[in-house]
Amino acid sequence: MSAQSRRTSTTTQRKNPSMCQHQPACPTADSADREAARLTAHHPEQGWSLLCNGVLLFEDTGELLPDGQIIAPHRPLAAGRVTTAA
Ligand SMILES: [Zn+2]
Repeated sequence: MSAQSRRTSTTTQRKNPSMCQHQPACPTADSADREAARLTAHHPEQGWSLLCNGVLLFEDTGELLPDGQIIAPHRPLAAGRVTTAA
């Protein structure tokens, strides 16, 4: 896929390639705070959510950024997971 498939968004404001129309604007996909953006679509049955900054947030906390970058899951280790190898 082309990395620059969407260049038709409005440029009336500051450069903002995201879908966010909130005021104040949510964190961008580049921000470390990206998960704080609001949900625009939530599909728990499919295990993913779409944030208004274009980030796809998966149930396991993995992320797919609008530019195609993949963020590995980073959830804290659950108590149920056994990591001790005897
Ligand atoms: Zn927003």
